[in-house]
Amino acid sequence: MGQLSHLFITHAHADHYGGAAFVREKYSLETWAPSLEAAVMENPVLEPLYLHGGNDPLPEMRNKFLEGQPVQIDRIAEETTEYIGDIPVKIHIFPGHSYRQAAIEVNGILFAADSYFGSEYLYKHKIPYITDVSYQLETLNRLLEIEVSGAVPGHGKFEHTYVSTVKENIDYHKDIMDWIEAFIRTNKEVSHETLVSAMCNAYGVTVTHLSAWMLYRTAVTAYVNGLIREGRICHYLKDFRWTFCICHY
Ligand SMILES: [Zn+2]
Repeated sequence: MGQLSHLFITHAHADHYGGAAFVREKYSLETWAPSLEAAVMENPVLEPLYLHGGNDPLPEMRNKFLEGQPVQIDRIAEETTEYIGDIPVKIHIFPGHSYRQAAIEVNGILFAADSYFGSEYLYKHKIPYITDVSYQLETLNRLLEIEVSGAVPGHGKFEHTYVSTVKENIDYHKDIMDWIEAFIRTNKEVSHETLVSAMCNAYGVTVTHLSAWMLYRTAVTAYVNGLIREGRICHYLKDFRWTFCICHY
């Protein structure tokens, strides 16, 4: 078996790049990552920083789940067909879970990374971590069109039947959007803070740590973003709170 020569890193979450610096050094390999994701991998404090709303992150935000070892990225991955070493690959940029989430197609197999999730993982997290549901749904629709014989989802196993899992992802996100719209309709006017709390309660998520709460807050906001973009909810500031309602006129 040949020596490892390249490392393609799909996005800047510590569970995907945490060991990259170690591997890069050990094998003197070439690292690839999409722009912006690369910037975070080279400056990992950016993740706790953005999750903390731009404030200097508190010590409890600076943990290995949010912040991996910095790794130098040698090549910026673009959405294109090219060679990595002597292997022809097709690189896709699939935003939604992360700003410049990448996936890679090799020999008719899609290594999807977190561009969609395996079923078990989807249900386990209850409110899946995404950054914008509009982009996530666009990505999932693009995944339905892709011509491959199988795919490996984020945190799941290889499957030939990936289309049904992608559809499951679409339905899951749409159900959450419907839940939020119904909640706002029932309560007429809902602040962002109230929505985060109500959703975490309703979906029965476990949040015992500030960093987990910050992740769920981002996930809830990802659905809010989509509902605003689709014109299904309106948003304004009231009493210094970001507030939502349904007003169709
Ligand atoms: Zn991820």
